[in-house]
Amino acid sequence: MRYLVTGGAGFLGSHLCERLLLSGHSVIAMDDFSTGSPDNVRDLGSLGDFEILEWDVAVPFDVDVDGIFNLACPASPIQYQRNPTRTTKTSVLGAINSLELAKKLEIPVLQASTSEIYGDPRESPQSEEYWGNVNPIGIRACYDEGKRVAETLFLDYFREFSVDIRIARIFNTYGPRMALNDGRVVPQFITQALRGDPLTIYGDGEQTRSFCYVDDLISGFIALFLRAGEHRPINLGNPEPISMLDLASEVVDLTQSKSTITFMPLPLDDPLIREPDIERAKDVLDWAPLVDRSDGLLATIADIRQRV
Ligand code: NAD
Ligand code: UDP
Repeated sequence: MRYLVTGGAGFLGSHLCERLLLSGHSVIAMDDFSTGSPDNVRDLGSLGDFEILEWDVAVPFDVDVDGIFNLACPASPIQYQRNPTRTTKTSVLGAINSLELAKKLEIPVLQASTSEIYGDPRESPQSEEYWGNVNPIGIRACYDEGKRVAETLFLDYFREFSVDIRIARIFNTYGPRMALNDGRVVPQFITQALRGDPLTIYGDGEQTRSFCYVDDLISGFIALFLRAGEHRPINLGNPEPISMLDLASEVVDLTQSKSTITFMPLPLDDPLIREPDIERAKDVLDWAPLVDRSDGLLATIADIRQRV
């Protein structure tokens, strides 16, 4: 098969391209390199038939493929808030352009959605039935609402044009190749710990996230893509929540760092809890994450150690 991965030079996109190539498929990675890096995909050509297409997903595109994974979108709060109108355009126009191509070619298309569509949830864990609690005019709205509209478009292209859609609602995922400068908490804490700098806890550090290792997430992505007829959104993530305070001490222990911690203001609209209900993924995909957080963090630390 020949696949298009938009956002293919990003963190998740590059791991997905790698997995597809290792499975014998041909891959086109489309990316504008706004948050991704050519370094992430530099070696992928040695794994098989791999092509990089420098392109903005918000501009219509036409390539001959058998399936599309639509991942193009900045994912870290710092990056997506840097140019918020562009973030919304990327989500909405990128979804339309991916769906139009899938409609024309009659091929499956998967949307990388997010736990952010639940906003600052009033229910925990979050199941796919929960409609969320999103501030539509806050500083995270460019991302949250952009991704919500993308889901709407995916379901409407399914209902109106029978496009063969999949929607993965990804919860915080981490691993090697995360950008060191995008402020996401795992690479940020690891970089600070390796440099001996204080780890920056935003707010009181009691807010929780549930961290999934990238290899597990990619397995879920592919299982979902191959699950013909599954058009409902599916949560993919690790159901074990941890507070940012506890994450900071785990990182300090695993890096054997002497770093202390320091408290900084909590960013606006920062969700207090995030915990996926993954029963649907277990039932429908026979999928659950396998990698322990300590193993995943050690692999991420080893990667970041080479780059700091
Ligand atoms: P990333 O920033 O590393 O990757 C995004 C990629 O998309 C980058 O390579 C970037 O250059 C590219 N891109 C951005 N705008 C583009 C545009 N207009 N045209 C073409 N390419 C563009 O982030 P990531 O963590 O790999 O996230 C990938 C996808 O998964 C995103 O859609 C994100 O919303 C979603 N997601 C990720 C997580 C996570 O924890 N990593 C959680 C939820 C959802
Ligand atoms: N966070 C933190 N210190 C940092 C970076 C992030 O305490 O240096 C917190 C942030 O406030 C949030 C959590 O870590 O509560 C996860 O942040 P991230 O940006 O990784 O992803 P989010 O889930 O907020 O999109």
